[in-house]
Amino acid sequence: ERPPYATRSTSGLLAARARTFGGQELSYASPLHLVAGDGVWLRSADGQRYLDAYNNVPVLGHSHPAVAAAAAAQLARLNTNSRYLQDAPVALAERLLASVPDRFDRVLFVNSGSEANDLAWRIARHATGGSGGVATSFAYHGITEAIAAFSPESYAGQEPPAHIRLVDPPPGHCEVAAAVDGLAAAGHPVAAMLVDGVFTSDGVQGPSHDWTRAAASAVHAVGGLYVADEVQAGHGRTGEHLWSFCSGRDELPADLVTLGKPMGNGYPIAAVLGPAALVDPFVEGTDYFSTFGGGTAACAAAIAVLDVFEEEDVLRRVSSVGALLLQALGDVTADSDDVVDVRGWGLALAIDLVDPATGEPAPARTRAAIEGMRSRGVLIGSTGPDRSTLKIRPPLVFGPEHVARLGDALAETLRELR
Ligand code: PMP
Repeated sequence: ERPPYATRSTSGLLAARARTFGGQELSYASPLHLVAGDGVWLRSADGQRYLDAYNNVPVLGHSHPAVAAAAAAQLARLNTNSRYLQDAPVALAERLLASVPDRFDRVLFVNSGSEANDLAWRIARHATGGSGGVATSFAYHGITEAIAAFSPESYAGQEPPAHIRLVDPPPGHCEVAAAVDGLAAAGHPVAAMLVDGVFTSDGVQGPSHDWTRAAASAVHAVGGLYVADEVQAGHGRTGEHLWSFCSGRDELPADLVTLGKPMGNGYPIAAVLGPAALVDPFVEGTDYFSTFGGGTAACAAAIAVLDVFEEEDVLRRVSSVGALLLQALGDVTADSDDVVDVRGWGLALAIDLVDPATGEPAPARTRAAIEGMRSRGVLIGSTGPDRSTLKIRPPLVFGPEHVARLGDALAETLRELR
């Protein structure tokens, strides 16, 4: 029986979407018609329940009551822009700056990860006078024209523009020194390198502090900036710390930090954090302002997210559940000739699949695995240049009972594929 909030049949909705959206991608061969979300669970119009092991935006779980209440209360009272003096944007800026090293003393609010990276790139160009950029070979950083150049995942066969150099991500050797030399020789001295702290689109390859430290040194040596893109890696994804560049044995020398996706647990809000010496000249030189960036309700949602992190001790749970999940994935795939690597950092995990006959990447098998998991009520995804890596990136409220369920579904799915 259809829940009351599904107003159309799934087939009717699918046809209407095709008429209005054209060819824009939908997940799954038979698309999921979702009507509700609660914690790690999603519910579809046909009454099925799905365990969400894929979505990182609802970092505290779908429809978190504290975030929904905070945003709703603010929407019902006042929701306007940050050129008026209001509590929420200032309180959020203070909270964010308290969570990063002391050298950061400015926050600029925007509405998406793409905008945050675009703004960081503009600040870097303004501060350095450079015009060159470095990204990893299959990175994704966003949709604006400037940031699409840093996003080879969406090049669709195009070559990088002349001002961009692409380098292998970890665990490959760090080639950033050669890349910045090449940029300078081509008349594009480096302004910035963008690094996704978990290298999500490159197949989930980090955090790798040795690689990133070497990369940052190479960029800094010629006056460029290292932008830590925490849009995926941040808000506790890797456990230990809210920000991946601050986790691990030592903090990485990021110059600018971008935040997004999970920041409002689904309410759009994003930000750039940086030192006054870099940010202030840009703001003054450009009369910078964003209408919705730092809007009151968005800030209320983002403050509620940070409150829940503290009240529910989320970071500690990420580390322990992440370790359990990594162990479970390792157990389920041990002795599998189609699984060549299982890795994870907190609740960012990946499984590399191959064709057992050839040892080559197996994109069709990977797609089949994702469909097989869905048919068993578990949502995961894929990533990497070969589309042969399963990406497991659940809301951080994933618990041991969910680990067991995912492990069972994966064992059955891999067995079926053989
Ligand atoms: N940076 C990274 C690392 C991302 O994964 C994404 C989105 N997948 C973005 C930036 C862009 O964020 P948005 O889609 O909110 O513009």
